[in-house]
Amino acid sequence: MPIRVLSEEVASKIAAGEVVERPVSVVKELVENSIDAEAREIKVEVRQGGRRLVRVIDNGMGIPADEVELAFARHATSKIASLDDLSSIATLGFRGEALASIAAVSQLTIVTRTAEENVGTQLRLEGGRVAQRQKKGCPQGTVVTVENLFYNVPARLKFLRSEATERKHIDGLIYRYGMAYPHLRFSLLNDGRPTFQSLGSGELYDVLIKVYGLELAQQMHEVGSIEADNLKPGTSNRELVDVYGYISPPSLHRANRDYLTFFVNGRWVQDRMLSYAVSEAYHTLLPTGRYPIVVLCLELDPSQIDINVHPTKSEIRFLDSNAVFAAVQKAVRRTLVDRAAIPRMTGLPSQWSAQEMERRRRLVEVGTQAKAVGIETPSVFEFPEPVKLPPLRVLGQVAQTYIIAEGPEGLYLIDQHAAHERVLYERVMAERAKMAVTSQTLLEPLTIELPRVAGEESVGFLNQLGFDVEPFGGETYLVRAVPAMLAKGDIGQAIVEIVDELSEAGTAGAGEERALISLVCHSAVRAGQTLSVEEMRDLIRQLEGTTMPRTCPHGRPTMIHLSAAQLAREFGRG
Ligand code: ADP
Ligand code: MG
Repeated sequence: MPIRVLSEEVASKIAAGEVVERPVSVVKELVENSIDAEAREIKVEVRQGGRRLVRVIDNGMGIPADEVELAFARHATSKIASLDDLSSIATLGFRGEALASIAAVSQLTIVTRTAEENVGTQLRLEGGRVAQRQKKGCPQGTVVTVENLFYNVPARLKFLRSEATERKHIDGLIYRYGMAYPHLRFSLLNDGRPTFQSLGSGELYDVLIKVYGLELAQQMHEVGSIEADNLKPGTSNRELVDVYGYISPPSLHRANRDYLTFFVNGRWVQDRMLSYAVSEAYHTLLPTGRYPIVVLCLELDPSQIDINVHPTKSEIRFLDSNAVFAAVQKAVRRTLVDRAAIPRMTGLPSQWSAQEMERRRRLVEVGTQAKAVGIETPSVFEFPEPVKLPPLRVLGQVAQTYIIAEGPEGLYLIDQHAAHERVLYERVMAERAKMAVTSQTLLEPLTIELPRVAGEESVGFLNQLGFDVEPFGGETYLVRAVPAMLAKGDIGQAIVEIVDELSEAGTAGAGEERALISLVCHSAVRAGQTLSVEEMRDLIRQLEGTTMPRTCPHGRPTMIHLSAAQLAREFGRG
């Protein structure tokens, strides 16, 4: 085929595809326009998961009669005028593409009126072409109705997911905008059924209750604004990163990252670096493969971010991503540490009072309701809160791996290695905090070889951990002392792994944490090691003293509990 320029119609449909991928993209663009128009109230209506109809009604500033057609021209926007404006964008839109794109692939009607006008304008477009225009009496604001999306793009229509899937995405989107803009009133009607309504009280917490239910919201921790912390001498306002919002306690987690919600300057973004910063902050507190529920708002000077990365504007680039990473990790970690210090004596499942059982039953119920609208149920019975252990009496050892013990409420099987890891991990953290790591001098120095890449920093960190390592020429090093806890372990292997962890992790902080876990893992008693009753008692006493006795630093459980009631049931006594 010879080269030719595509017709305007084909070109506009192709361009539309970038912005409007599916019904939820339409909802997103229209809602963003309403927010930019300074609406206080935004009503969203969808039919058949948005394929049949999406309608967004706002009480914003409206579009003047003589500009309505222009709003549907490609690259027509009232939000920026020059390239320079791109570095200080304060609105959600700026590309001037959304209305043109949506109109190109649907049948669209807009009714709009500004405060200055007595009468509004109604414009109807079919596949992007104006089909009808008339004056229309209406309240101030804008109503955009998008019908039969992709009616003229059969290829797209074929690829649309099920109605239920689309509905779920639209719900998720409105929840998120509700949370990002707690001072706005959002409502959502799904096939005539109200499914969400925010109050517009200005309190994020109120919206959390609407989105996740009261029981769950009550368990969330508030992340206070950390603005003041950022004010290192010499930090200019431009470099400030403010972080605030809500995060779940370590006992509340989910199987996927869908519950990690981030807003940057009021824009919902999906960003791996931000997710990673949160994961790092929760590190060792959650079982592997589980994720917290997090709603975090970041505020930065607009010059510090680039949102013009993708037509859907859901990706973002940070000028100084290290600073953003650090701010998020610090804010989350600090909240977790502050809150974890308050002991929560909710007890073991078998010790729950009738009232507590009821509370949890309702929690599950709320979860089930939440699931119906696409939110996963919390597994409260599976993952009890981190609680102190009751005093346990050691009965013996099974398979030289598990300690069997009796408590006021039944039987406990404790993984000796995992339990010892937890004990040592908390000890080394405490010692490091006090800069008082106990080390033990070796009777004879040990020579080891470290890869050249390990470098001085790794050796410096090893020495902070209680090692005494010094260069001995080439890749050889001399080890004169080791952390006391490691004295009986395989020192050479431990050092090699610690250095590996340091160099493999994405950030210095993450590397150090992984290195610490590695040290602890090499120092802890192994599975298959026979323990005396004394040693077992000692270990259990120490485990009782930890703040998180139920998981090892890798997030695996340290113990299994069989309650007296469970035993009775199993033996047919109950
Ligand atoms: P952008 O939002 O990037 O400017 P759009 O195509 O989404 O581009 O909208 C084009 C223009 O139409 C906007 O710049 C704005 O002036 C106007 N507009 C769109 N929706 C609304 C609305 N709900 N209320 C008032 N003005 C609107
Ligand atoms: Mg827009």
